[in-house]
Amino acid sequence: MRILIGGMNHESNTLNPIITGARDFLIARGAELLVPGYAPQSAIAGIVETLKKAGCELVPALMARAVPNGVVSHSLYEELRAEFILSIREALAAGPIDGICLALHGSMKVENLGCAEGDLLAHIRKILPHVPCTASLDMHATVTKEMLDAVNGFVGYKTAPHIDCAETGAHAAAMLLTSLKTGKKLYTAYRRIPMLIAGEKSESEAEPMSSLIELCREAEKRPGILGASFLLGFPWADDEHNAACALVTGFSENETSANTIAAVTENLAAQFWKRRREFAFRSEYYDSAAAMEAAYRAVLENHEKPVFVSDSGDNPTAGAAGDSTDLLEKILARLDMVEKLPTPLLYSGFYDAPAAAVCVKAGIGAVVDTTLGGNWDTLNGKKIPLGLEVRNIVRNFGPHKSDLVLASSGNILFTITSAHIGFGDPDLLPSLGVKAEDYSLVVVKLGYLEPCFRTIARRAILATSKGCSNEVLESIPYKRVTRPLYPLDEDAEL
Ligand SMILES: [Zn+2]
Repeated sequence: MRILIGGMNHESNTLNPIITGARDFLIARGAELLVPGYAPQSAIAGIVETLKKAGCELVPALMARAVPNGVVSHSLYEELRAEFILSIREALAAGPIDGICLALHGSMKVENLGCAEGDLLAHIRKILPHVPCTASLDMHATVTKEMLDAVNGFVGYKTAPHIDCAETGAHAAAMLLTSLKTGKKLYTAYRRIPMLIAGEKSESEAEPMSSLIELCREAEKRPGILGASFLLGFPWADDEHNAACALVTGFSENETSANTIAAVTENLAAQFWKRRREFAFRSEYYDSAAAMEAAYRAVLENHEKPVFVSDSGDNPTAGAAGDSTDLLEKILARLDMVEKLPTPLLYSGFYDAPAAAVCVKAGIGAVVDTTLGGNWDTLNGKKIPLGLEVRNIVRNFGPHKSDLVLASSGNILFTITSAHIGFGDPDLLPSLGVKAEDYSLVVVKLGYLEPCFRTIARRAILATSKGCSNEVLESIPYKRVTRPLYPLDEDAEL
């Protein structure tokens, strides 16, 4: 069997003014997708492994991935789509394609176009209208009618933080193989759940997600049902389709089985809705000023170390700009407290290409006058003038080849990146010679702490700071989402 594989993966934050462009994407083309070790732990890796094991001939189109950020450049997306379609045409010239298995996000948005997945799938369906197709989705997918019309079977990640991406890709591939082997057609039922959930309230290890995901796993054990998912939408995209949903894929050979799938989907949605008020932050949380006050007390009075504060409103891995200064301004307003800390306050960090360039040009040991923040998120940030002493520089870090700078100002130590890569990478601080556990107070532009920080954090405090990943959804001035929508509207009904 010849199976077309590929995909696109980007979580597009429409509140962030950055346009995600070619510099941000990692693109693997054709046979590059099949190289052992390509994108380990990702959905496409699970797809490749499963289909290879089943003896399929793989027809790789392309896989484009980028760190969450603002919407994707229209011209770049059109180029990627054209390349994807061309590779299908070339593959068809060599022989028929029996199936399609894609690794998609579900919340990739393109400037002046909207839903990338719906558009890409519609173009694929123009060439391959009837070939069975399955796809894996991120848990934060926003499902649209175009996506449902084009794909026979969907399955989404069941974990947040997402640690089951490869497993989900394998699941999507297995659904396709089952359909091809049995000749039975897959069908996906969708039920909108009119709510959005702040990312940090939906960790899958915590309730209510933990038992809701268990309901999906139980549903998947029922005869005729191959995949059951809760997809949460993406709260930082002001989009008419944005909402959570229950999505169930199965065989709908007759009216009875179609009714069963529909009933299971309805029941999952109802169970989710029933528990909507239980979604809550797992760690202690305060607004920016109060979060810092709590952190100073923890360090200075309780001698806890290290204490972590998540600058959650400006989390680049949730697509925020990474240069909001809301929390920094609160820190600078209380330098008397900062000065009392037994070690410098480590702030990781800021995405600020101009500041990084100034520091790199000046070199290690130099003292520069520059500004930090406020290049992109001018609503929640402004350029803060700072004198910085450059402590360390790493050029071309990671796959996005970002420059990293470690620089100090008084008793604060900042990391600065030249590319929008986020601050959750466990190698970022060590590459600058920094061990987070050596610092009493670590502020990081993240939401829930990544395992590298969680395992060492003596205490984790969530600052509901202001930025493009503002966790207080009720305070976001949405214009396009379809209302009523919980928790914006308490009277929303399923
Ligand atoms: Zn996600």
